[in-house]
Amino acid sequence: KLHNTILELKGNIRVFCRVRPLLLDEGVENGTKTISFPTTTEALGRGIEVVQQGQTHPFMFDKVFMPQASQEEVFEEISQLVQSALDGYKVCIFAYGQTGSGKTHTMMGTPGSYDDKGLIPRSLEQIFEARERLKEQGWKYEMQVSMLEIYNETIRDLLSSNKSSAIEGSGNKQQYTIKHDSNGNTHVSDLAIVDVRSSKEVSFLLNRAAQSRSVGKTQMNEQSSRSHFVFTLRISGVNEVLEQQVQGVLNLIDLAGSERLSKSGSTGDRLRETQAINKSLSSLTDVIFALAKKEEHIPYRNSKLTYLLQPCLGGDSKTLMVVNVSPAPSSVNESLCSLRFAARVN
Ligand code: ADP
Ligand code: MG
Repeated sequence: KLHNTILELKGNIRVFCRVRPLLLDEGVENGTKTISFPTTTEALGRGIEVVQQGQTHPFMFDKVFMPQASQEEVFEEISQLVQSALDGYKVCIFAYGQTGSGKTHTMMGTPGSYDDKGLIPRSLEQIFEARERLKEQGWKYEMQVSMLEIYNETIRDLLSSNKSSAIEGSGNKQQYTIKHDSNGNTHVSDLAIVDVRSSKEVSFLLNRAAQSRSVGKTQMNEQSSRSHFVFTLRISGVNEVLEQQVQGVLNLIDLAGSERLSKSGSTGDRLRETQAINKSLSSLTDVIFALAKKEEHIPYRNSKLTYLLQPCLGGDSKTLMVVNVSPAPSSVNESLCSLRFAARVN
């Protein structure tokens, strides 16, 4: 299949770009289009052009989604990747981009809505549907989820049954120490791991995580745009007839906003916070660049996020970056930054 061919050529890293529609309060651009999509045979569906101060910057990705692309269309392009977690692959799908570019919309969408739900609910529906089909071939799957947030290089459990410890974050006894065993399994001490049997159960947990995040948000200054949200589904399958066993992992990550320091005008705590966020984001980009260039040393240990995901980045695991871009003229500089980052990965 075409997708697999692309994956092999790219060392298992793919990059998609998604441009969200202009929002109502962003007004109509008076004829000055910042972003356009070339229609040449080569660039159709893969090219994007950004105009900044009269200069045109062209980019090419594995796939470019235009503002009118539906959640379903986006999911169609990643469903094979999601499916491969059932075949025993370790998969990471990241949403990257400045705050307001559509990362959470892409990942979560509007939960509960039929058309507007994002990659996470769609992935789970697909996986649980596939599980039913694979039952007929003798496969038995067990699924477990965990959900955490990394903020200021500190892990916060979003499914902790102990509400106060979840809110206090770093102030409690939980250490959330990350360890990898020789089978490539990751263990985070004290982190809640929940057995799930249906996508409904996962939706319920996603709601709980969202609540836990929003409680933290009022207490911790709009934390959600400054923290990384990591959703992990562990899949273990056994087929006694075929005497086969698979262990797959699907990580779906809504990254912190990639906006630079200058724009957020940070001082004091905010400055330190932004630096910590930039640290884990830039560590992630360092890891991805090192993997893309097939370098010998991959600097996983430089941040919590990359260390946590180490077994799922590199090797025969599969990575997809969805770079979200705002079409607003006021965001053109940030959009260019995101696209340049993504182009380096590609
Ligand atoms: P981020 O998570 O990157 O900060 P959001 O996902 O919250 O950004 O998106 C910012 C705003 O844009 C939200 O109001 C969201 O509903 C809207 N939005 C983002 N992407 C789309 C899209 N593809 N279609 C319609 N609205 C979108
Ligand atoms: Mg968001």
